[in-house]
Amino acid sequence: MNCIFGIDIGGTEIKIGKFYQDKLVLKTSIRTDVSNNGVNIFPDIFTKIEELLDGDQLLGIGVGVPGPVVKGVVRGAQNLGWGNVEAEKLLQEHYPGIIVRVINDANAAAIGEMAIGSARRFRNFVFVTLGTGIGGGVVINGELYEGFTGSAGEIGHLPVATGKKRLCNCGLYDCHERYASATGLVYSAEEMRKGKKTILNDIELNAKNIFDAAKAGDEVALAAVDFMVEKMAIALSTVAATINPEAFVIGGGVSKAGDFLLTKIRRKFQELCFMELRGTEFVLASLGNDAGIYGAAYEIRKRMEA
Ligand SMILES: [Zn+2]
Repeated sequence: MNCIFGIDIGGTEIKIGKFYQDKLVLKTSIRTDVSNNGVNIFPDIFTKIEELLDGDQLLGIGVGVPGPVVKGVVRGAQNLGWGNVEAEKLLQEHYPGIIVRVINDANAAAIGEMAIGSARRFRNFVFVTLGTGIGGGVVINGELYEGFTGSAGEIGHLPVATGKKRLCNCGLYDCHERYASATGLVYSAEEMRKGKKTILNDIELNAKNIFDAAKAGDEVALAAVDFMVEKMAIALSTVAATINPEAFVIGGGVSKAGDFLLTKIRRKFQELCFMELRGTEFVLASLGNDAGIYGAAYEIRKRMEA
């Protein structure tokens, strides 16, 4: 049988999916070896692919990586220890004649949601991944938009405050993800609970617990969530006014807060955005951690059909 691989390289594990056409037939993962600036990452992937091929014919490999990518060249991926890596070229040299494609991981997840997830009915949307940080992917007319330096969709680093209150990993202050990621929410809750009568003083502070407390009506937890939502609505209304998407598709670990979170974001967004943008839809992503491998594989199928 002919097969393609969809691969999602993360800082701790590499997810590998084997597909027959659009059907995921096998899914596994290997540990990410970040020693020696991640030089073993591709060799490890090649070894695993050989093992998983099992006599099938390899037609293509799509890969998502945690860093900006322009035309198949990774422009630095800190989590992997990578500087500039000509990833598509490396793949092509190892497997001459097959179709290869390397894209940013949040972009791969966006494409995955469009291929078989909750973004199926959209051609213009922005995928937002809410985890320990915030990432994004921009899809315009059904195509990924990577931007001039591969940084389109870096919506975690839109400034949402002034006054240098919170330093971001990127070196800037008051980025969106310092307020609206799981990390940002915990930071806010930590500050807000001091000297207050709240469940937050009796539980471990993490995004899930804060949301559970907010859902149960704890006022301090609600204030922390509302503060997060306000910052997110500021960022997304800016994005919406720039590209006027049909929808925002919200994924990542924090999106498990579900409709409770979505309803709040939608309401705050409608309050802050330009009038003609109020109809922008907000939907939850549906593929979870598999979105990246589906998206990477879809990029290959699309090129095979072209
Ligand atoms: Zn930042």
